[in-house]
Amino acid sequence: MSRFTIVGAGQSGLQLAIGLLGDGHDVTVISNRTPEEIANGRVSSSQCMFDKSQSFERELGINFWDDLTPPVEGISFTIPHPEVAGAKALTWASRLDNVARSVDQRVKMPRWINEFEKRGGTLVFEDAGIDDLERYVLDADLVLVAAGKGEIARMFDRDPEKSPYAAPQRALALTYVTGLAPREDFSAVAFNLIPGVGEYFVFPALTTSGPCEIMVFEGVPGGPMDRWAGVTDPAEHLAISLDILKTFLPWEFERTANVKLTDANGVLAGSFAPTVRFPIATLPSGAKVLGLADVVVLNDPITGQGSNNASKCAKSYLESIRSHTGQFDAEFMQEAFDSYWAESQFVTAWTNAMLSPPPPFILNLLGAAGGIPEIAKRFTEGFNDPTDFAEWFLDPVGAEKFLADASARAAA
Ligand SMILES: Cc1cc2nc3c(=O)[nH]c(=O)nc-3n(C[C@H](O)[C@H](O)[C@H](O)COP(=O)(O)OP(=O)(O)OC[C@H]3O[C@@H](n4cnc5c(N)ncnc54)[C@H](O)[C@@H]3O)c2cc1C
Repeated sequence: MSRFTIVGAGQSGLQLAIGLLGDGHDVTVISNRTPEEIANGRVSSSQCMFDKSQSFERELGINFWDDLTPPVEGISFTIPHPEVAGAKALTWASRLDNVARSVDQRVKMPRWINEFEKRGGTLVFEDAGIDDLERYVLDADLVLVAAGKGEIARMFDRDPEKSPYAAPQRALALTYVTGLAPREDFSAVAFNLIPGVGEYFVFPALTTSGPCEIMVFEGVPGGPMDRWAGVTDPAEHLAISLDILKTFLPWEFERTANVKLTDANGVLAGSFAPTVRFPIATLPSGAKVLGLADVVVLNDPITGQGSNNASKCAKSYLESIRSHTGQFDAEFMQEAFDSYWAESQFVTAWTNAMLSPPPPFILNLLGAAGGIPEIAKRFTEGFNDPTDFAEWFLDPVGAEKFLADASARAAA
């Protein structure tokens, strides 16, 4: 049995903590918010999780909301026509093999905190700083920092080689609503890409009051979707959300005739620079701590992968700990991160690619997906396992080959 202290009671911290408890370890989680504060606080994410990430929750028996959460059955992709107002230049949709689900973190984390304590974990409410970390390292075999976008993440240095962006690439906003008209054929992450303006996606989820839909706005900074500065009134936030849809995406606006905010805290606006950090931070005493999930690999939400990554990172670190004998020293920490990065590098590469204006080979693929279901299907399943994008979406030669092969199969 080893002793672990994890700073941060979010997706990665709690999932890893519950996994370690199950293996018989002594685990302490430090949270700067109580379950009540989380439940009654502001939304923090749209947290749509695909099957592979959900499977790690199922393994731990903490998938408490599967029957209550409206399923996300596929992905749809639309680009408005650049010249004909109200028309679509491209649209297609494809079903996922297994449904995705989004459970509001205000629902999930309080329940997981209770579950963690029920299974024998120790919870401490504290806003951890460097001095506190110095204290934790005296008592634990390994201290992990899973504090998401919290200030404390800055103690991990940015890795410039893995972080192409020094500034935010999108102005982000979330609007949680009820009353949105469903898509016609099947439920989906309805992804709309407006070149030069930004992206909008919307999908069903479970929030504190029951089923809802989450609108996500990704505005190019300084552009016409970057409209959230100084907006504090939830009603104004909703009005801006609807105005953006009316202006750029009338088919999405049509779905909103009866929408209402889920609650006054069902809105969020902000921005951050996508950043990969070195996984180990050294305290003034010389002791080392290991970063987890968003602390070390923070991607823009454009591909909806952060919670998925957090789940995969928790699972990857759990496996690294399981297979390790000896001290949890710097060598272990680096190896644990490297194992995780072996997979997550593809998520980062794909996400960063989606933030840039798409090169012609990607436009060709996305365009062809409208007529060739195999391409739409492969793109859709990539949300579940983004490692697949390396071969055919991120590499111009691989993209050309896949397009030619898929076109030939479609014509046969
Ligand atoms: C607008 C937006 C939309 C998103 N949409 C999606 C999506 O559709 N799909 C998806 O997969 N991901 C999405 N994400 C990302 C996803 O929510 C995060 O990547 C994920 O929650 C990260 O998990 P984590 O465990 O690293 O951190 P978090 O879940 O953020 O948890 C960190 C916890 O640490 C606590 N904490 C911070 N500092 C301290 C401290 N000093 N001491 C103690 N506790 C501390 C925080 O209060 C928090 O509870 C979205 C994010 C945003 C901003």
